Amino acid sequence: MSEKIATTNNNRPPVVSVLGHVDHGKTSLLDKIRSTNVAARESGGITQAIGAYQIDFNGRLITFIDTPGHAAFEAMRSRGAQASDIALLVVAANDGVKPQTIEAIKHIQNSNAKMIVVLNKIDLPNLNIEKVLAELTKEGIALDKTGGDVPVVQVSSTTGQGIDELLDMIILVSDIIDLKDTTAEAFSAVVIESEMTKNQGAVIHAIVNSGTLSTYQEVFVGQKSGKVRSITSDKGEILKVAGPSTPVEITGVSFVPDTGSVLTSLADSESTDSNSAPESLVLSASEMIAASQAKKESFLIIIKADVSGSLEAITKNIPPKVQILSSATGDVTASDVILSKSAIAPILAFNVKIPSDVEKLASREGVIIKPYKIIYELLDDIDDVVAAIEAEKEAEKVKAVAEVTAEFTIEGVRIAGVKVTKGSIKTGMELFLLRNGQILSQAKATSLKQRSKEVGDVKAGQECGVLLSPALDFKIGDKLEFITE
Ligand code: GDP
Repeated sequence: MSEKIATTNNNRPPVVSVLGHVDHGKTSLLDKIRSTNVAARESGGITQAIGAYQIDFNGRLITFIDTPGHAAFEAMRSRGAQASDIALLVVAANDGVKPQTIEAIKHIQNSNAKMIVVLNKIDLPNLNIEKVLAELTKEGIALDKTGGDVPVVQVSSTTGQGIDELLDMIILVSDIIDLKDTTAEAFSAVVIESEMTKNQGAVIHAIVNSGTLSTYQEVFVGQKSGKVRSITSDKGEILKVAGPSTPVEITGVSFVPDTGSVLTSLADSESTDSNSAPESLVLSASEMIAASQAKKESFLIIIKADVSGSLEAITKNIPPKVQILSSATGDVTASDVILSKSAIAPILAFNVKIPSDVEKLASREGVIIKPYKIIYELLDDIDDVVAAIEAEKEAEKVKAVAEVTAEFTIEGVRIAGVKVTKGSIKTGMELFLLRNGQILSQAKATSLKQRSKEVGDVKAGQECGVLLSPALDFKIGDKLEFITE
């Protein structure tokens, strides 16, 4: 399969929203576009519902936000996020302009998104298209037929008629509005939806606006932060990096931002996240780790609970990687705080009181006491901490990174010409071959050569030839991550 390029003209892919009256076919349209443009082999047959999806239409990528309707559109717009570049106004050709069509028109006109009118259900008999167009004009839409700049495309989401013309029109409009590539800018992404889950903690669906998102990166919403544990695409692929207009599912961040919040790579001095998550979910895994001995291999905690039943339910579900330093029923006491301070272990307080003098002592001593009312929230937080520790260890494993910049063959053996971008590489190191952020295979660097001379190590900024064993099918642009010596 040929390498996919983001666009043919160095622009970023357009992000498209779908709005319109109920039952006019928004969901059917999104389903039809996705099912006819995401090949089963490409998706591995497993597409993920992550609030948005991306298709490849004749070599051009288009991102669709697939939570139709103006509630989501408005939630994003109201927070100042320019979530979509193009808005499709879906109008059933047999029904014409309806109350929600008018609302949708207002939302689109108040945003910076460019409108395309999609007349749907044109497979139905006895249609009066001219009447519908007149209704749209009456609502103040400057249709291109009458000298305006809003295109109209006629489709059937049932038969697929006109869908390719619609996709062509989306590409044309995106070329006209000239969406500049924002890869080089600072990272930002718009949250489409997010939820707290039992197994994975917070799961955030977002679309990258600018810059790139990488695994283990710290992201912020306002002043809350978290470390990205995993990035998954709409096709279920695990990504290491994601660029502009890419829909992503992110885990690892320990809070649930509102729809329309903007994730950034820098803390904001003013929080843009109005969602006051319960206190128990706000303390991040990283704060807990900071308040613990996690860095010294073991993560210690102190548990206080109201009754022995809940204490048991908690302790027996704490993963083995976490050590319970002490567990008891009853309110948090000054001696818990003193123990916590000396052992560097946070206190998890389930349904118990924290007397104000104890709270004061804790704050003076820099001890973390985290109150909980729901057991699974406590366990979720612990899972987050364990995952964050694992992610940190994984990130630390990568000792050096190099990019494949050339290839040559010496005596029938393929050598990767690389430039070291991080750390220093040595003969004998194990490495992963990555393409587009995905690990493809593993090998060993059996020899490093500079100007046909064997060298022991090569530092960041320098170039060399790497002989790989086993021989890997590398390409220029691939990345090598060196993990062990
Ligand atoms: P939404 O509420 O706007 O998301 O509308 P849906 O996609 O759920 O569609 C509403 C109904 O219209 C469903 O019964 C669809 O099968 C039907 N429908 C959607 N698009 C078409 C179309 O192009 N032609 C016909 N005949 N029916 C359609």
